Amino acid sequence: MIHKKMLIDGVWTSGNGNDLLEVVNPATEEVFAHVPKATKEDVQDAVNAADKSYKSWSKLSPFRRGEILRKASEIVISRSKDIGALMTQEQGKPLAEAIGEVNKGAEILRYYAEEGERIYGRIIPNSEDNMESRVIYQPVGVAAAISPWNYPIELLAWKLGAALASGCTIVCKLPSETPLSPLAFIECVVEAGVPRGVINALTGAGSVIGTEIIRNPKVKKVAFTGSTATGKHVLKNSVDTLTKVSLELGGSLPMVVCKDCDMELAVAGAVRRSFRNMGQICIAINRIYVHREIYEEFLQKFAEKTQMLSIGNGLAKKCDLGPMCTKKGVETTARHVEDALAKGARLLCGGKKPEGNEYEKGYFFEPTILADVNHSMLVMTEETFGPLVGVMPFDTIEEAIELANDTEYGLAAMVYTQSLHLAERLAREINAGNIAINNPDAGVINAPYGGWKDSGFGHEHGPEGLYEYLNIKHIRVRYS
Ligand code: NAD
Repeated sequence: MIHKKMLIDGVWTSGNGNDLLEVVNPATEEVFAHVPKATKEDVQDAVNAADKSYKSWSKLSPFRRGEILRKASEIVISRSKDIGALMTQEQGKPLAEAIGEVNKGAEILRYYAEEGERIYGRIIPNSEDNMESRVIYQPVGVAAAISPWNYPIELLAWKLGAALASGCTIVCKLPSETPLSPLAFIECVVEAGVPRGVINALTGAGSVIGTEIIRNPKVKKVAFTGSTATGKHVLKNSVDTLTKVSLELGGSLPMVVCKDCDMELAVAGAVRRSFRNMGQICIAINRIYVHREIYEEFLQKFAEKTQMLSIGNGLAKKCDLGPMCTKKGVETTARHVEDALAKGARLLCGGKKPEGNEYEKGYFFEPTILADVNHSMLVMTEETFGPLVGVMPFDTIEEAIELANDTEYGLAAMVYTQSLHLAERLAREINAGNIAINNPDAGVINAPYGGWKDSGFGHEHGPEGLYEYLNIKHIRVRYS
């Protein structure tokens, strides 16, 4: 049994309480680790430590901070196999993907090490002689990161990298289901030379830790990634302290497949982005709209390629898909399938737990495609966050745009067409913060990533992700 501790004020500790949080392997349903459940006092200790270390960390030159982050990045890469194995064990994703995510975490730290050296400020001419305005950027103070289990390291690294590079200190509330790999990631950052108190990491219940962090007046910025319901809670809790908040929330991602698309590319994109990480991605495809003239051809090729995906325990064998991370996720997916079938959808593949001894235990579910769906079905309106996608035909581009926009979410959308004109029109008229055209990935680390509508506000990635942790200061100077 693995037992890991939290990090408060530079000390790995069990905290003030005695309660433990169990970590379950979703491929076997076995409890294989424990972490402490932080108490309210632990949260206060962590925030106080971050506050105490803020003065010296924020005064370090960005180049020195960058040096530490670059070293952290190297340490993470050197341990990526071990950290990746921990991630597979707690989250379920296949080992190669887990190692890929760890390496991505390292890349994010390196990116922000460099972006932190490029916080330039501006000089603005004034109308009066001998007067000038200067704009400088200063760190906001103590930051907090609250992140979910689907990408345990990547989503944390976005926040940790940007906060530390900008000169903020940080308190991280790690995902309850997957605390081990982020703790191992943080160990690398600490070993790289981050001073005591600059990073603090808490494990335990989100409702206790999250609420306590947000309400603490010493915390000046909260970066939250998670569900829309919890995000709204976070926002409500930030009112009294007027804490700066960024919210990366849920989505219901539409993919529009036009009749002039490159069919092989569109099918490959649909398979990858509907089922990778078992659909437990905020930018997983939930809804696919296909031009009626190519509808049946698309369905047949999509189902064929999907049925070729291998499923298994990602630590025991090489496979495309692991189990889902939680039992609740399997239940939601099954409920959405049932709802659509009862309302007349056509099941193309999947829809159940895979058969065979190796799947008896574990939160496994077959990648599932439903055709002939409509917007009365949960699969097209609620975020499933599982290996399920609904497909329906459209006749005109106007109809496709209307269907894509018929959602309260606005995180991302995907478009497949060979027409420059159509690509441009769909990119402009679909209401979402990120649009991927002829590719299945709307996120890259050096370009801004953020949602519209119920998918939240604020940005991560790119310089925009860094500026979330900075205050603007205008200095007006008379020179004579
Ligand atoms: P969740 O909202 O239940 O939990 C997210 C985090 O918030 C966890 O660390 C949790 O412990 C914590 N938390 C729980 N209650 C809290 C409270 N009252 N106050 C503060 N924090 C609290 O989300 P989840 O089910 O773990 O994650 C899946 C969701 O995350 C999906 O909706 C998905 O779309 C979304 N997500 C969004 C993005 C994005 O970039 N937009 C990325 C990944 C996941």
